[in-house]
Amino acid sequence: MKMELRKTFQFEAAHLLPLLPKTHKCRRLHGHSFKVEIVVAGECDPKLGWLMDYADITAAFKSLWEKLDHRYLNEIPGLKNPTSEAVAVWIWKRLKPKLPLLVEVVVAETCTARAVYRGG
Ligand SMILES: [Zn+2]
Repeated sequence: MKMELRKTFQFEAAHLLPLLPKTHKCRRLHGHSFKVEIVVAGECDPKLGWLMDYADITAAFKSLWEKLDHRYLNEIPGLKNPTSEAVAVWIWKRLKPKLPLLVEVVVAETCTARAVYRGG
């Protein structure tokens, strides 16, 4: 039985997008309550009846969450231009080795705008 699990996290952070024109609002320093959705997929364990423990997703993401929460994203190595797209890729690269069932990372900077990365 194939299954997909989604676990949502939130972090608060500031950023600006330095490559945009100075007149663009995202060029100014501002903050978001970012929401991250970590998605794993695979075959359910027939004995346990689940794909994996949600707590293991939380444990795998914890050190990355700590690097992001209440930070100025532009200062984080690899996030000089911290668009939601770049944050999703940044998370993917660091999380995939620890969470092999990872299939998707979603980063939402507002309730209505999100970037989805599935690797590649
Ligand atoms: Zn922003």
